[in-house]
Amino acid sequence: MIEDKNQQRTQLSDLGEFGLIDHLTKNFKISQKSTVKSIGDDAAVLDFKNEKIVITTDLLVEGVHFDLSYVPLKHLGYKAVVVNLSDVYAMNANATQVTVSIAVSNRFPLEALEELYAGIETAAKIYNIDVVGGDTTSSTTGLLISVTAIGTIESDDEVYRDGAKSSDLLVVTGDLGAAYMGLQILEREKEVYKVNPNNQPDLDGYSYIIERQLKPEARKDIIKLLKDLNVKPSSMIDVSDGLSSEIMHLCKQSNVGCDLYEEKIPLDPQVISTCEEFNIDSTTVALNGGEDYELLFTISQEDYSKIKANPNLTVIGYMKEAQEGIHLVTRADTKIPIKAQGWKNFNA
Ligand code: ADP
Ligand code: MG
Repeated sequence: MIEDKNQQRTQLSDLGEFGLIDHLTKNFKISQKSTVKSIGDDAAVLDFKNEKIVITTDLLVEGVHFDLSYVPLKHLGYKAVVVNLSDVYAMNANATQVTVSIAVSNRFPLEALEELYAGIETAAKIYNIDVVGGDTTSSTTGLLISVTAIGTIESDDEVYRDGAKSSDLLVVTGDLGAAYMGLQILEREKEVYKVNPNNQPDLDGYSYIIERQLKPEARKDIIKLLKDLNVKPSSMIDVSDGLSSEIMHLCKQSNVGCDLYEEKIPLDPQVISTCEEFNIDSTTVALNGGEDYELLFTISQEDYSKIKANPNLTVIGYMKEAQEGIHLVTRADTKIPIKAQGWKNFNA
């Protein structure tokens, strides 16, 4: 964390734009049949036969979306790809290609961009997607990364946010709140380091939550699992801004209400203990923390028996008629209206 490794520093100007692109992308391998022409021409050529395609894009800005004093560039590259793939999977689609565009200041040596691209390459390998293009330009100060992800839909498999029905079950994958608590630890250690740079960060016992913040995974496995279980969700969204905000999206777009059961919200033990340490309510963190990149979806009650035994899936609520509203049912059995906060407001 924040150490100067005395690394080699090759100025980007030594390579020139084309040398740089070539250097960064020369290791990328093509694995998708649909990739006809990849990096190296004016545009990529993709052939999806008669499949429907999905496309999604995200822009990450240094100082707004990431802080390089504790985010290793390799992790940043990995995460920039993964958060886009998460949006593809949230459509119940298969991710196939990405493009990666960067704007970078001369503050970054070539070695830093190599790290960034090593993370991008790892994500491409793990999720079996091709990097088929991008753009490279300079910026006056920080680093910007924009990733566009492309995916395919099998027959009529697409799932939108607007298909939830009253009496559907609300299901979430994995556990919530860990990425937010990981960020709290990283921020705390950054302050400690600022006071005395000889202080080594104390990250013992926080490995899961820090990993969830620095190296999130997209739930590609769940798309396959649902297919194998023969379950098609009625609506779906990925959890990027926090559970409450995503529930609001599903409810508003589907015109339904919801009861969310506090006692059902899946939390990792490290989240619970770290919340105790910081004196924060773990339910608040799960509701408003964000960056979990889990999938939140609704299914018809008939499908309950197909999913109930699976440890990756937790039923956390019921969809209701719209006029019944959107509520958290607490452990004390009181009903509190859910408001979308998003995690920026949460900080304030
Ligand atoms: P153009 O001038 O037509 O925009 P570029 O020189 O920017 O072309 O890009 C040349 C090729 O390299 C294209 O295939 C482009 O998609 C790819 N490319 C450029 N920058 C990146 C990058 N940062 N990552 C991956 N591919 C890139
Ligand atoms: Mg270009």
